[in-house]
Amino acid sequence: MNHSVTKNILVITEFRDKVLLPISLELIACAHQIEKLTSSHTTALVLGRPDESILQKISQTGTDVLALHIDGWRHIDALSARKAITCALSHSPDIVIAGNTPLGIEIIPGLSIEMNASCISGVCDVNITPDEKLVFNRNIWGGKLTASVISNQDKVMLTVQPGSFHRIPECGKPLGHIRRENISVEKVGSFLKSRAFPSKETESSFDDADVIVAAGRGIQAPENLKKIEAFSKRFNRSAVAGSRPLIDAGWLPYRCQVGITGKTVSPNLYIACGISGSSQHVYGMAGSDFIVSINSDPNAAIFQISDVCIVSDVIAFIDTFIHLEEA
Ligand SMILES: Cc1cc2nc3c(=O)[nH]c(=O)nc-3n(C[C@H](O)[C@H](O)[C@H](O)COP(=O)(O)OP(=O)(O)OC[C@H]3O[C@@H](n4cnc5c(N)ncnc54)[C@H](O)[C@@H]3O)c2cc1C
Repeated sequence: MNHSVTKNILVITEFRDKVLLPISLELIACAHQIEKLTSSHTTALVLGRPDESILQKISQTGTDVLALHIDGWRHIDALSARKAITCALSHSPDIVIAGNTPLGIEIIPGLSIEMNASCISGVCDVNITPDEKLVFNRNIWGGKLTASVISNQDKVMLTVQPGSFHRIPECGKPLGHIRRENISVEKVGSFLKSRAFPSKETESSFDDADVIVAAGRGIQAPENLKKIEAFSKRFNRSAVAGSRPLIDAGWLPYRCQVGITGKTVSPNLYIACGISGSSQHVYGMAGSDFIVSINSDPNAAIFQISDVCIVSDVIAFIDTFIHLEEA
């Protein structure tokens, strides 16, 4: 990519009901990282009918907002979204950033074909070469290797791995400008008749959780999940997660799985309860701000990436914790 002229970055944000999903702030963080490396300008696209507070929240990150409203359209489905984006963009962006989420995965490949752009998925970091070429890093081989990808096209479309960039908070920058545009249903086409409803299975409180308490095989028995839940409830805005063996055994639903074949999370606090720290699990939670691990094995691999290491039987620790808190 040539960076002698200002590049336009478009971030495709996501929201549910009245809440901006955390991935949106991570995508804006990724865009701001590119801004620091190159001469570029970011616009955050909000599709649908968002609550005003969502637009304000994005604007408070110092990012310009394009709110694209389509009458009668309350839920984003990928085909309509792609059509709306191409209709709405008078200038086509040089870099489009979406989440490596169901929405982003559906939109970005098709959009990259329409815009004759490179498509790079699962990006977890961005750098620049001495001759000013952007380098997009993505994990491969179960997170054991990092591939550094340089686009051979001027335009590039990315999906960003959730949890890879620290959510951008409100910052000292001036508020971003909010532009509202309407687009007619006719322009977008008949896709609008289909509305996607999130099924119970795809809903997860992970997205909003500040604290995730994750259970691993070390909890020994499914009955002990009640203890994990009780432990989790001691924290505000918390959710229970699990390592893959618990999901495979049917102790927890798939939506609770953290890791390379599950979700990537980056809460303020991640408490790993009886989890060994396999690379496949760590891939999904290493971006957490603060990691506490409870494991009976002092040499457990999870301790290598933990801020606090507690060598203990996990259930005994939780019982004592709850007992002391109630005393
Ligand atoms: C292609 C592929 C994809 C995968 N994807 C994922 C994924 O997305 N997510 C994922 O989690 N895994 C994934 N796995 C599985 C992964 O390799 C590990 O097998 C799994 O993460 C191990 O889970 P665990 O740490 O709960 O169990 P174990 O590895 O069995 O570890 C249990 C831990 O509990 C500790 N322990 C035992 N008893 C106690 C006690 N009483 N108190 C405290 N600690 C105790 C032990 O010391 C041990 O460290 C994948 C594997 C493959 C091959």
